[in-house]
This record gives sequence, C-alpha cells and structure tokens, in this order.
Amino acid sequence: MKDKFYITTTIPYANAFPHIGFALEIVQADILARWNRMNGKDVFFLTGTDEHGVKNFQTAKKEGLDVQDFVDRNSSGFRELTRVLNISNDDFIRTTDKEKHWPGVLALWNILKANGDIYKKKYTGNYCSGCERFVTDKDLVEGKCLDHPNLEIHQIEEENYFFKLSKYSDQIKDLIVKDELKITPVHWKNGFLALIKDGLQDVSFSRHKSVLPWGIPVPEDDEQVMYVWCDALTNYLTGVGYPGEKYKKYWPADLHVVGKDMLRFHAGIWPGMLLSAGLPLPKEIPVHGFLTVDGKKMSKSLGNVVSPLDLAKKYSSDAIRYSLARGFVFGQDGDFSESVLVERHNNELADKLGNLVARVGGLIEKNGIEKVENNLIKKLDKEKIGNLIGGFEFDKALNEIFKFIDDCNFYVQNKKPWETKDKGVLFELKESILEVANLLLPFIPESAQKIVDQFNSESIVKGEILFKKIE
Ligand SMILES: [Zn+2]
Repeated sequence: MKDKFYITTTIPYANAFPHIGFALEIVQADILARWNRMNGKDVFFLTGTDEHGVKNFQTAKKEGLDVQDFVDRNSSGFRELTRVLNISNDDFIRTTDKEKHWPGVLALWNILKANGDIYKKKYTGNYCSGCERFVTDKDLVEGKCLDHPNLEIHQIEEENYFFKLSKYSDQIKDLIVKDELKITPVHWKNGFLALIKDGLQDVSFSRHKSVLPWGIPVPEDDEQVMYVWCDALTNYLTGVGYPGEKYKKYWPADLHVVGKDMLRFHAGIWPGMLLSAGLPLPKEIPVHGFLTVDGKKMSKSLGNVVSPLDLAKKYSSDAIRYSLARGFVFGQDGDFSESVLVERHNNELADKLGNLVARVGGLIEKNGIEKVENNLIKKLDKEKIGNLIGGFEFDKALNEIFKFIDDCNFYVQNKKPWETKDKGVLFELKESILEVANLLLPFIPESAQKIVDQFNSESIVKGEILFKKIE
C-alpha cells in the first residue's frame, strides 16, 4: 500500500478575491503535492475558503447582497485561482457547506465540551455600535474606532463560551520543542516558543448571535454562534471526511502550509483542540513569509494589490508559478514584481529551457539517436534536488536544475552535433532533457509534461515553441 501524504493550505477569508500572497502559498503547497504524488505517495491536497464572520455579514449588507451570495461570489474567485494556476488540489472545502463541513464542527465542539474544555464565562470588552462588534486595542486610536471616530466606545459585558487552551499549554510547548509538532523554518519555531513562554491563554470560542449573526450555531444554545476557531480550523478534518471513519485514511495532516500571521492559531489553538479531542496532531507546519510588491507593502490605499486572476489573463500558469517558486526563500518575506516575472520567463524559461528543447528536438528529428554511456547526465544531482524540494527550498532546487540546463546548452555548443551528426551526443541530450522535464513537473506542470511527451515519443521532432517571448 502507498504511504499517504496529506497537505493543506490555510483557508483564506472570503471577503474579497485572492491576492498574490495567497497565490504564493497555494503554488508552494501544489509543488509539494505534485512532488509527493510523483514519488508514489497517496496524496490528498486540500484548500478552500473561510466564509463566516461579522465582516462578511457587514460587507454583504453594505453591497446590498445576500450574505450567502456574497461569499459564493468570493469563494468562486479562489476556486478560479486553482484553475488558472493549474493547482492539483483534491478538494475545496467551504465553511458554509452544511453537508460537508458543519457536522464535523458540531461533533468536535461536542467532544471538547464533553471533555470539560468548553465553559461559559462573562467577558467585558470595548464595543463599537458602528461596527456592531467588540473591537480590540488595535482597532482604536485615542479611544475611538478607526472607522467610526464620532461614536463613543462602550464597555459591554457579554457571556461567551471559552476553550481551555491553557490546560494544554505545557504539552503543546513540549511537542514543539521535541519537533513532534514541527515548525519550519526553525526561526519560526523559536519565535513561537518565545511568544508562548508565559503560557497560552484560554480563547473565546463563541459570540452572542446579535453580535455574530453569520456562523455555525453553538449546539444546544440558541443565543450563541461559534467564533472563527472551532469553525475554520476544523476544515482540515472535515475536508477529509470527519466525523465519519473516512478521515482516518489521511489524518493527521503531514503539512499545514501557513503564512506567518497564521502560525499562532495553527501552532497554538489548533493543537489544543486536537489534544482535547484525543486526535493526533499535524506533523509539520511550514511557515512562509509575506510579499511586498515592487518594494512596497501591498495595500488597497496604495492601489498596488496584485490580483493573480488578473495576472493569469496576461501570462501562462507556468510563467506565474515559475516566478513564485523561483523568486522567494521559503519562510522569508520577498518582493513580487511583474517585470521580474517577465524577465525570468524570457531569460530562463524561453532562452535557456525552451531553446535547448527546440534545438535538440530539431537535431534528433534530422539525425536520430543511438544509445551510449551518458556522461552528461552525471552532472545532474537528482538526490540533492529532491532533498531541496522536500525541504521547501524551491529557489535552490530550480537553481540546480537550471545550472544543469546551462551544462546541456554548453554541451550542444561544444559537441556541435549539427556538424558531427553524432547520434550518441543526441542520445545523451535527450535523456538529460527528459530528466530535467521530470524534475520540473511540480513547478511548471503544463510545459514540463509537453517536454516529457515530446521526448518520450517514438519519433522525436522539433515541436512547437514552448515559451513565446513576452514583450
Ligand atoms: Zn466602529
């Protein structure tokens, strides 16, 4: 039987269409999903959208839309993203899905409650009547709401359900220290351990339905609606069939790929919930950084938010995927620039890879091949590249692959098979190109598959132009 491999992205909040930061996350996860599939694993790759919460409720109202229609529209933007970026996800989970998602959330809530870890507590907080919600210190400037500076902030008392996360604090810390719940790269592990050194606090798990009218109702309490934690984090279980028996095939997740702002919830609250329920913990949380655009932080007010759906109207999925995989060190912030995308496409994909493939294909079409000992391919360190991909070092892996593509181009230059008609040299090049294409399958699946098909064929020909130069 094949080993299973369960990988997830976070589920973005369906309050708008996707931006380039999430495109980075889903492409990184897709590379790992494809890589593990190629290596014989039984992969399940899950993504989806987080659709409840007061913000969606209010934005929908503002736009004069039914809330469900509003989240349907935004969720379809994320589904479209999986299509235009050629993402190989096995399912797409939505938190408003009452058949696939709600039963698992309700079941998990009931288990946490039965285990004595959900309790009711009075809570006093700053309430903005303009926002119709509790606001945190972050939302306030000189005691006034950022969005409603003319309204008074009132202290309001509310009774909510809380989850006893503090009970699991030491256990979670211990599991992270021992890498049983692995956080990578290691600076994120150390950062999180520093953040929780004084222990984890209990977290609020529900809101009064007058405050949060759009969410999953708390079992046996008509007044309360679940807050985001139990609702959204549980997608990782419901996405593989929890609470039936089916989820056991894939759970625990092998990788929860998350952005750095999501680490606290995935390494703190989520493990606490799983420990309470007696469920195994995810094995590893790889944490990626954020993107700036042309050196600036992305923001609506600067008008520099990059939409990957718009990019996909101009560029191929492979051009976008390649620039995201090639340009960033996993775990660190990086800068996205459309001009760099174009440069990489033209200089690396078109000039180096595309030219090699077309040239060698044409030479084989004319001269044929003859099996010889392959000296060229010895320069390709497949094991090293595999380890780099498995270790999320996609930029370095591509660097190695393209170093070898340079070697192949030099080989053609030096051996001059157009003069010598050396079928042995062409055999070496053919086998080398096939290896390169196989290694590129997780990164640029569409073009790499074309190369594999072209060079596995009985009669190899020059073929079509793989990467047309972008002006
Ligand atoms: Zn307000």
